[in-house]
Amino acid sequence: MEINFNKNNDGLVPAIIQDATTKNVLMLGYMNADAYQKTLDTKKVTFFSRTKNRLWTKGEESGNFLNLVEIKNDCDKDTLLITVDPVGPTCHKGSDTCWNESNEQSFGFLTKLENTIQNRKENQDDEKSYVASLFRKGINKVAQKVGEEAVEVVIEAKDDNEKLFLDESADLLFHYLILLQAKGYKLNDIVEVLKSRE
Ligand code: AMP
Ligand code: ZN
Ligand code: ZN
Ligand code: ZN
Repeated sequence: MEINFNKNNDGLVPAIIQDATTKNVLMLGYMNADAYQKTLDTKKVTFFSRTKNRLWTKGEESGNFLNLVEIKNDCDKDTLLITVDPVGPTCHKGSDTCWNESNEQSFGFLTKLENTIQNRKENQDDEKSYVASLFRKGINKVAQKVGEEAVEVVIEAKDDNEKLFLDESADLLFHYLILLQAKGYKLNDIVEVLKSRE
């Protein structure tokens, strides 16, 4: 890979470290050509530490290595995006990321929707809310809705009306998220089960 190590005349390029699974940004470090080569050779992310003024394999003392998944060069070859599987917390201060965030799997909009649904569960007396009214009716009713929407998806799958298929699929996913919440689970719990089967 052709990398421009001399944009800043110091032989270094910034390397953004991203969790390969959660896609969270874990930290930022700098690499020179040797650090880059050592990273490729050992499959453990190695930086050039400007503080230590030497090659630094992240995790060399703590054991919290960043196992290499993939290295991508940016559009003008002066910044690396490195995806990793981190061993333990990445920040030496003990948090998952260097910005004191937890490295949780997030599903973007679905996570936002999941939070809204949780909010309705906690405020079930909200008269105007459809989701709150479902929670009031109880788990059996919610589970029944999932069943109904699943049947509707099956019916639309046989047809070729794309719009209806997408609408019913959305209904199913939406009601499934409500059922998970009613049972006290998150989408992430299901993902963990799926991962454990891999
Ligand atoms: P480690 O590489 O995890 O064994 O940590 C060794 C030393 O590197 C720590 O004591 C810190 O000085 C430094 N260090 C570790 N992790 C980070 C980080 N994410 N950002 C900056 N410095 C770090
Ligand atoms: Zn660039
Ligand atoms: Zn840190
Ligand atoms: Zn429906």
